[in-house]
Amino acid sequence: MNLLFLLGDTTMSAHYDSTTFPPSVKAKAEIAIIGGSGLYDPGIIEKPIELKVYTPYGQPSDNIIVGEIEGRKVAFLPRHGRGHRIPPHKINYRANIWALKSLGVKWIIAVSAVGSLREDYKPGDLVVPDQFIDMTKKREYTFFDEGVVAHVSMADPFCEELREYLIKIGKELGYTIHDRGTYVCIEGPRFSTKAESRLWRDVFKADIIGMTLVPEVNLACEAQICYATLAMVTDYDVWAERPVTAEEVARVMAENTEKAKRIIYEVIRRLPLEPSQGKCSCCRSLATALL
Ligand SMILES: [Zn+2]
Repeated sequence: MNLLFLLGDTTMSAHYDSTTFPPSVKAKAEIAIIGGSGLYDPGIIEKPIELKVYTPYGQPSDNIIVGEIEGRKVAFLPRHGRGHRIPPHKINYRANIWALKSLGVKWIIAVSAVGSLREDYKPGDLVVPDQFIDMTKKREYTFFDEGVVAHVSMADPFCEELREYLIKIGKELGYTIHDRGTYVCIEGPRFSTKAESRLWRDVFKADIIGMTLVPEVNLACEAQICYATLAMVTDYDVWAERPVTAEEVARVMAENTEKAKRIIYEVIRRLPLEPSQGKCSCCRSLATALL
């Protein structure tokens, strides 16, 4: 995999509307996988090539690997960069989503490692969240910060159609996969205090905790891409006062990553070419958002 293409143009305008965004590039991928902690190379992409993509927001977390899975065109982007170089609060989320959109991506399967805030979401379990609470503090949350104002609906932030595929296939493969969950996204890079952890759990009623969902999910919505998260529980957050060793976390993460790869492979085989009318409104999210 040493063929490197250069895509994009650093001079292109950061302003866009739904008709001009993104600059047209021949579609290279229809489905993207954003890999989280533990998933830096899916190892399931055939005929892979690497693309270096430039965006008005700078460069994405890494070169994007583009290839095929069972004849479907797919892209893979490791959210933290290969070698886990970029902490959650320094990820260039806008460049990542812009780059995927510019490749023609219609679906994003976002994989992330999370902590559990409830006893019955156990380390090793998978969760497909349906809601989030944003406790991040200073990130770039929108493509619409100049020229055009847009307020996209986040009432149901995830693509229901893509969620259904993840849940159904996870169950078929015999994994413990929870079909609902509220993901509280904290700024990081530090973990929560015990008081904070109890707040997320007992007052906010959140189920899982992580540092990378926001603003990735809302930028995907602005870009009108169907987006769902496959969250892998690695540990109980500090509320449980149950010390875990790095070795345990590493073992659970490795097992979870294998499960995630098998689910993703099957989902990609079966996803329709286009999001189904009526199942989700992701690809029409700007229709009522622009002022
Ligand atoms: Zn959708």
